[in-house]
Amino acid sequence: MSAIENLEIIEKKTLDAISKKATLEELDQLRITVVGKKGSLTQILRSMGTLSAEERPLVGKRANEVREKIEAALLTKKEELAAKELSERIEASALDISLPGRSRPQGHAHVISQIVKEVEEIFIGLGYTVEDGPYVETEYYNFTSLNAPKDHPSRSPRDTFYVVDPTVAHPKEEIDTRKNIISDVLLRTQTSPVQMRTMEKQCPPIYMISPGLVFRPDTPDANHLPQFTQIEGLVIDKGITFGDLRGTLDHMTRALFGNDRRTRYRPHFFPFTEPSCEIDVSCGVCGGKGCRFCNHAGWLEILGAGLVDPNVLQNAGIDPNVYSGFAFGMGAERIAALRYNLPDLRLLTTGDMRFLEQF
Ligand SMILES: [Zn+2]
Repeated sequence: MSAIENLEIIEKKTLDAISKKATLEELDQLRITVVGKKGSLTQILRSMGTLSAEERPLVGKRANEVREKIEAALLTKKEELAAKELSERIEASALDISLPGRSRPQGHAHVISQIVKEVEEIFIGLGYTVEDGPYVETEYYNFTSLNAPKDHPSRSPRDTFYVVDPTVAHPKEEIDTRKNIISDVLLRTQTSPVQMRTMEKQCPPIYMISPGLVFRPDTPDANHLPQFTQIEGLVIDKGITFGDLRGTLDHMTRALFGNDRRTRYRPHFFPFTEPSCEIDVSCGVCGGKGCRFCNHAGWLEILGAGLVDPNVLQNAGIDPNVYSGFAFGMGAERIAALRYNLPDLRLLTTGDMRFLEQF
């Protein structure tokens, strides 16, 4: 077999073998057997001296061509296999960076907290402050200072959680003089004590709201909760009239329920205010025509309000001949029920995620 023929065979076999190699190691083995120190092609190049003068340049030229071709093919294949092995190693490793992470569900504020925050923002926008007070109150701040008569039914242990047994007799002077009240501790039934505490420590003008928990010994049912969230407001300034009350509460109602809802003011009685009223908002389900949700009245009661009774101002050390004011109170749970058509207030305290996630 001539040297040229031998070269043709080496070229064909090697190129064919290169294309079939599957790993870098196999490819390197092949490289050594062809172009390594004792490789088949290397041996031909080394034996050039044994060839005739005519043969030598032809074989030399051809041998170089074959070597270049084989080395180029080896390099291309090496890069291809290296890239393939790298991607295989990434796929096989334990950490898959392309896998989406486990999502951790993010919670949000409870619907009642959302409503309290919303009301706070409405009134902060009007220049009001947000005041806070203790849950455990004295009978004086919860009732007496707010003009509730001694025999008012809401003072009964059936309507108020007493911390100290209210049936224990106290000397008359302890109950009658404000400073000597040392007993009759209760869980506040309203946030109005915060109004009295604010009036005592702050000079008019006062523009404040007091959102917070209140407690009453009610059995939980569709319309009652023994613990609920009240939002009360108080304004004390010179020349405050019922017109100010109405303008403010109409603004709040529209902000909470929408511009298309109308309000209605009905006379009522509260010890704390005179005159007093209850305020209804037109039914959002029927638009005021009457439906099952509004008991066919077309209206839904949302809050109580009135001008602050002069006795209350006097109790706080404010001169009712100089200052007047208005106050209002509503339940955040009731606002939630009216806004979202909730059939049962107890849904708000169950912690059922299927319910809570809707808000
Ligand atoms: Zn209705």
